[in-house]
Amino acid sequence: NFRCRSAFKLLEMDDKFRLLQPGQSVVDCGASPGAWSQVAVQRVNSAGTDPELPRGTVVGIDLLNIPPLDGAHFLPSHDVTDPATHAKLLDLLPNGQAHVILSDMAPNASGFREMDHEKLIMMCLSLMDLAEKILQPGGSLICKYWDGSLAHKLQEKLSSVFGSVRTLKPNASRKDSAERYFFARMYRKPVK
Ligand code: SAM
Repeated sequence: NFRCRSAFKLLEMDDKFRLLQPGQSVVDCGASPGAWSQVAVQRVNSAGTDPELPRGTVVGIDLLNIPPLDGAHFLPSHDVTDPATHAKLLDLLPNGQAHVILSDMAPNASGFREMDHEKLIMMCLSLMDLAEKILQPGGSLICKYWDGSLAHKLQEKLSSVFGSVRTLKPNASRKDSAERYFFARMYRKPVK
């Protein structure tokens, strides 16, 4: 039983691309109420449900509270864009590294489509700083965005550090919504 229907979007994307593997470390950004974390816990075996498989790690972050979940470590009342949160993640992740960053984050919608779009794009861009600190080379990122004029900017940024970037619109995502996901693979640290 999932806490929220959003689980089906991640399940669908993961079934198609086999992103989450047992033993991996996952950071779930904007995790409340915890449905994506539930999926991640199952897929990376972080609750140790299958003792034959390597045990992964799931860390979920949200501004809001997140009810506890076996196999996940939650950072409620934490802002993903805050460097102090990044520092905590470094401590919680094995070797301070994640294989996968998931983001289903969304700002409170103002109802002004362009404004909400821009705000969410800014939040996605901040994930690039997080990636630089914790994402291991070869790692992946899935991030939700609302389609609009700045989407190509985000795609360009992602393409500058990921070997492959594609746009996904899961069937479980309402057809009439602007919601999309970028799926970026094969991370390489930016050269400074
Ligand atoms: N994926 C979640 C699930 O399956 O249960 C649902 C996520 S919900 C669509 C978006 C979440 O992003 C909200 O809970 C919101 O509080 C969170 N959020 C928005 N901005 C954030 C930020 N800067 N840092 C952390 N969480 C944030």
